Amino acid sequence: MPSRYAHLYRTPRWRKERAEHLTANPFCIPCLKAKRRTKATIVHHTTPHRGNETLFWDRTKWEGRCRTCHDDAEGPEKTGRRESYRGCGPDGLPLDPGHHWRAEARSPLPHEDTRQ
Ligand SMILES: [Zn+2]
Repeated sequence: MPSRYAHLYRTPRWRKERAEHLTANPFCIPCLKAKRRTKATIVHHTTPHRGNETLFWDRTKWEGRCRTCHDDAEGPEKTGRRESYRGCGPDGLPLDPGHHWRAEARSPLPHEDTRQ
């Protein structure tokens, strides 16, 4: 769960309005667009509110999402990672050049010898 804006998410008002939104909009919007019907469990803010209460409570900026779609889009916002380095490249490695997976990928593994 989000921690930075927990004071907003922890309110009875959020719990109530979130539940109302998910009742009225039960399916994950990105999944629906991909012609999948997945139950939405999270109310996503399509405009990052960054603690701005006007944006936070603006229901026109709410969108139901499943956990998978939400986490895909929300990584940097919730984890504090840099926006430009989220996700993975086509090679399946993280885009962040500082990620330890990339460091390992750059140096050949000991058992990978160039000998045929
Ligand atoms: Zn989804």
